[in-house]
Amino acid sequence: MASPSGPIMALAPLAPLELVSVALAAIASKKGAYCPYSNFRVGAAILLADGTLHTGANVEVASTPVGICAERCALAPIVAGMERPELPKIRAIAVSTDIWGPSSPCGMCRQMIREFCPLDTPIYMYGRQPLASNQSYPATIPPEEELRICGEPVVMTIGQLLPMSFGPNDMAKREVQTVAQIG
Ligand SMILES: [Zn+2]
Repeated sequence: MASPSGPIMALAPLAPLELVSVALAAIASKKGAYCPYSNFRVGAAILLADGTLHTGANVEVASTPVGICAERCALAPIVAGMERPELPKIRAIAVSTDIWGPSSPCGMCRQMIREFCPLDTPIYMYGRQPLASNQSYPATIPPEEELRICGEPVVMTIGQLLPMSFGPNDMAKREVQTVAQIG
């Protein structure tokens, strides 16, 4: 159970069909990307323990630091849509881009994922396999077809992507140390 001191328990690993669903959702959500400045589409999908899938895409604006990544676009509404003290129970996250190899979440997104996920939560990263120099992908590809050309995803846990991270558990340690010092 997620608690104010941070999620510590791993949830059940994904069944193969669940992984396909998460991957297809991440791939399909790229169509919502608004990225006229980078032309770098990213889609993200988050599978919760209750079986629901939540997606996001990167949204850029002319003032580039103001834009938001697909991962945080997907994650923040999940958290904001719950009543406190409830927190999401996240089983897996998938990220899809149009490049090869697959891209990993940026540092900001890793930190936000770390806040709400056990350290062994898997992050599945999908890209498009490279083509010969005289070939190109069509402008639109059905998600099922794109998943086929993605090949195997790169998968790492959030703990591997953000080692020795600072998270909600560290805030709880400070409180314990303060009590000990006073005593
Ligand atoms: Zn990011």
